[in-house]
Amino acid sequence: MGGGRQWTAPRGTPAAVGACGRVDCALMATCLVTGGAGFLGSHLCDELLSRGNRVICVDNLATGSLANIEHIRTDSFVHLSLDIIEPYFVDQQVDFVYHLASPASPIDYLRLPLHTLKVGSYGTHHTLGLAKQHRARFLTASTSEVYGDPQVHPQPESYWGHVNPIGPRGVYDEAKRYAEALTMAYHRQQGVDTAIVRIFNTYGPRMRPHDGRAIPTFLRQALENRPITVFGDGSQTRSFCYVEDLIRGIILLAESGFHQPVNIGNPDEFTLLELAGIVIELTGAKSEIVFEALPTDDPQVRQPDISLAGELLSWSPAIDLREGLKRTLAALTAPDTERLDR
Ligand code: NAD
Repeated sequence: MGGGRQWTAPRGTPAAVGACGRVDCALMATCLVTGGAGFLGSHLCDELLSRGNRVICVDNLATGSLANIEHIRTDSFVHLSLDIIEPYFVDQQVDFVYHLASPASPIDYLRLPLHTLKVGSYGTHHTLGLAKQHRARFLTASTSEVYGDPQVHPQPESYWGHVNPIGPRGVYDEAKRYAEALTMAYHRQQGVDTAIVRIFNTYGPRMRPHDGRAIPTFLRQALENRPITVFGDGSQTRSFCYVEDLIRGIILLAESGFHQPVNIGNPDEFTLLELAGIVIELTGAKSEIVFEALPTDDPQVRQPDISLAGELLSWSPAIDLREGLKRTLAALTAPDTERLDR
């Protein structure tokens, strides 16, 4: 195999546990996490490490930050600064591959349209190849954006979606739809043990305050007592999942033997105007609400149907919006931790 970048474990690195079955026994497995220095990826690394796994974080910091992983101090963790758009290899046993690398916020994928398409296509292809080589269980992070501006509400996994492929958001939505197709092809043709999680809007500590998503934007504006900017008339709805709930669902899915897509998100639905009101109330801000033009192809409604996750994984979210926002605020305002000005 020529051309790719290969990482070899330094001498003395304990071998990944091969004695336990990779799906039956998640303890002490080696997990490779692409995008592990991002918002969700870093929380996933934390949780996998806390469960006793070894973690290889592959991240070129395109939209992530070393600040998200600098608190991790254990020999069970390594960060490889690799761009997965190029072929890459890891010269040690890998049991689970969690593929999260991709720009995720609209600000990022509108700024990086070709990168977004390449990481969803080449990046997913290379990471699936790595999973195949290691006979690892592979999970790809897909998104509710595969449903586009949905005409079915709430959205079950069986809904094929309503996506504009050539609009500005198409680079993200279609990259993720392609990544799902590629994942199923590797499963059907190559026998790779794959899983697809369709993640709905998730929030929590380590979101970048300027990443353009509603919750960090509203929190930043409220903490600065500045006007809160709501797109359109604010009647569009979203459902927001706290990061801890999401990570629990992702790991449960990875450790299941299921191959079809599964929605993970919080079905409690709020209008953007309601969200702005809750943020003002919880922060005690004096902010007024101002309205700005609706972005192109902004979905009007968004709510996961999570019956499948309930039946299959006995999963449901445990942290409601107010509690999750309080935790996010506490992290944002705590000295020397998840700071706003990062
Ligand atoms: P993020 O931008 O914080 O994290 C993505 C990480 O991928 C970053 O650390 C970035 O540096 C890394 N990355 C990007 N391109 C790369 C490349 N070519 N090579 C190596 N690393 C690369 O985003 P996030 O919110 O943590 O999202 C993580 C995943 O979850 C994404 O795949 C996203 O599409 C999916 N997702 C997130 C949400 C959400 O609400 N946060 C919703 C749906 C889906």
